[in-house]
Formats: sequence, structure tokens, C-alpha cells
Amino acid sequence: MKSKKVKALGLSSGGLDSILAALVLKEQGIDVTWISFVTPFFSADNAKKASESTGIPLIIEDITDDYLIMLHNPKAGYGKNMNPCMDCHTMMFNKAGEYILRKEYDFLFSGEVSGQRPFSQRKQALRYVEKHSGFDGSILRPLSAKNLPITKVEESGLVDREQLLNITGRGRKIQIALAKKYGIKDYPSPAGGCLLTDIGYSKRLRDLFENTEYTKRDLNLLRYGRQFRVNGTKIILGRSKEENENIESYYSKKDDILIRLETFPGPGTLITEEISKETLVIAGEICVAYAKIKAEEEIPITIISPSGKETFTVKNRPVSDFAEFLIGNL
Ligand code: SF4
Repeated sequence: MKSKKVKALGLSSGGLDSILAALVLKEQGIDVTWISFVTPFFSADNAKKASESTGIPLIIEDITDDYLIMLHNPKAGYGKNMNPCMDCHTMMFNKAGEYILRKEYDFLFSGEVSGQRPFSQRKQALRYVEKHSGFDGSILRPLSAKNLPITKVEESGLVDREQLLNITGRGRKIQIALAKKYGIKDYPSPAGGCLLTDIGYSKRLRDLFENTEYTKRDLNLLRYGRQFRVNGTKIILGRSKEENENIESYYSKKDDILIRLETFPGPGTLITEEISKETLVIAGEICVAYAKIKAEEEIPITIISPSGKETFTVKNRPVSDFAEFLIGNL
């Protein structure tokens, strides 16, 4: 008989695999808690939903500052886009491991499945994460444990290896059957949720890293609208009323410039970086081009800047004139 209840802390994306990993451990009497991390690139929204539906407690931590340092130069490199999956998981386990050091939990776990993702979940990749996390031996993958080398967690008797699973590969059949067994009905699809895996977002992020000293606000703005870089300055245009509102919610009266079309409906346009008069005219032309106004050669625009309001006219040019300035479509 175990004298005190074993406690485990698991990384949670809120996806089915995270849920199953926790339930497999719970079934053998282990007290499980989740931890989910937040950055401008991914949220804890799905983890919150999973926590609400299963009753498993959830800790949420914002790791943006440390994440950005890693993201500029991930030791194991990027995946297909700007996703540094191996170093991302390493950092998450390292952060979760602080709770082990404080003796609040006995070991860490995740819902990773060996061989499920081509790059980040190969056996060597799982091993890389353990080795570099600072918590080698304290990380368990309950869904694939029987296909992986035995861990100290199992050797020490904290967990019964016999009750763990041996799932490998990309198939979902076993997980779906387990979901049925545990009565799990609502769970998000396994892919998605991380902007760093998006090709358009990754282009924008790379552009930001290369061109400017950025803030968290700049990172948050990357997900909205059409974005252009003209003569070194970023210009952001909304594609819908909702996007215009989202973009304008980041507007700072004392630093930024807004462009508005007074006589026609058109995209909200935000400029958060320094801009020359010549480039401001081009920004106005881009705003006008995407308003798609027919049969007018010149259109008045209003510039709202920290120094006041100014109205002038710009040429009505086709959007194709500005294609070369577009950065990564979302
Ligand atoms: S997909 Fe995003 S959140 Fe997931 S491991 Fe890769 S970088 Fe991290």
C-alpha cells in the first residue's frame, strides 16, 4: 500500500491525448493536476475547457518572456514554420519541473504519443526533451509508456507500468475508443491552436524579428488583417468590421497613426512604427485600394496622428500594385 497519495503534474493542451493521459493515471489512484502555458502564440483556452469538463485542476502560467528568448534561437531548430516544438516542450517541462523541485508533485507527464508527429514526437525527440528539460527520469508519457524505455517514475513504484499504454503512430482509433470508455465527448481536433505552425503567421513573425524592436502588442497584432511592409514600415489593414475593431483596440493615441476614409467605407488602417510622409501616402493608397471604390481617380483620406488630424487625397490604385509589400497572409 502506498502511504501517501502520489501526485502528478501534466502538460495540457486540452486535446484528447492530454485528457486520456490524465485519466489513465487517475484510474490507478494518482492525484493529477494539469499545467498549461500561455504566450501570444498559443492560449490555455482548450485546457480550461478540458479542466471544466473533467474536473481536473489546472494551473495556467504566462511564459512569454522566456519563450521569446528561446524562440529567437531554438537549439533544436524550427519545424516546418516558426514552431520550435522540441525546445518548446523542453521549456514547458522545465517550467512544470519547478513544482517538482518545490515537492508539490512527484512526477510530470504529458499526452505525447511516440511517433504521432513526424518531427517532435519521434522517440529521439521525446528523449531530447527529457534530457534537456532538467527533469530526466521524472517525465512519463502514459499513452506510450510501454513502448518507451522504463522511467524512474515506474521503477520507483510511483506508477504501475502494467496499467500504462503502448500507443504509437498517427492513428486515432485507440484514443477514440478510450474516449468512449471514459465518456469523453467534447475535445478539440489534435492539430491547430498554435500560431507558430501557421505559414502566414510565421512569415509575419520572421518579418517582425528582422525589422523592428517589438513589444507584446506587436506580437498580438500579427494575427489580424492584411499586413504590409513598405520602406521599412509596417501597415496593418482590417479585412472586416470585427478585424477593424480588433486592430483599433491596440491603437495608442500618443504613438500611432490611423487612416480613415471619410466618404467611403474602407478598411481600418493602423501604423505603429515610424513612417515617412512618402510612405504615409502609400499607406493611404493601400487603404483606398482595399476599399475597392470604382470610378474615382482620387479619394480623400484622413490621417489621425499624435500631432492631430489631416486630410488629403491619394490615388485610387489597384490592389495588385501593392502585392510586393504584403507579408504572410492568414
Ligand atoms: S505546436 Fe506550438 S505549442 Fe505545440 S510544441 Fe510546437 S511550438 Fe509548442
